[in-house]
Amino acid sequence: MEPGEYLETFRGEIVVTSLFWDCECDKDFIHSKRHEACPICGAVREDQPDSRANEVLLICPELLTEQQRKSFIEALEWARKLSSGHWG
Ligand SMILES: [Zn+2]
Repeated sequence: MEPGEYLETFRGEIVVTSLFWDCECDKDFIHSKRHEACPICGAVREDQPDSRANEVLLICPELLTEQQRKSFIEALEWARKLSSGHWG
């Protein structure tokens, strides 16, 4: 499976996902795309960046399906190889 419609790589290093977005909170800042806004800091989905795949895996892996989790890990591995300049 390809890294997927919901994963995107920036500069070959940072993998972001359109499944989640970051609000302005210091913690619990990852929101599902189903959330319109953060009730704590008031950030609105449309104004906020997509979440980083590694942060989703680290902070809230329980929000991912098994398939999504595998795609995230694959995409991160791919980006890591790309940025280190060799393909393992
Ligand atoms: Zn917030």
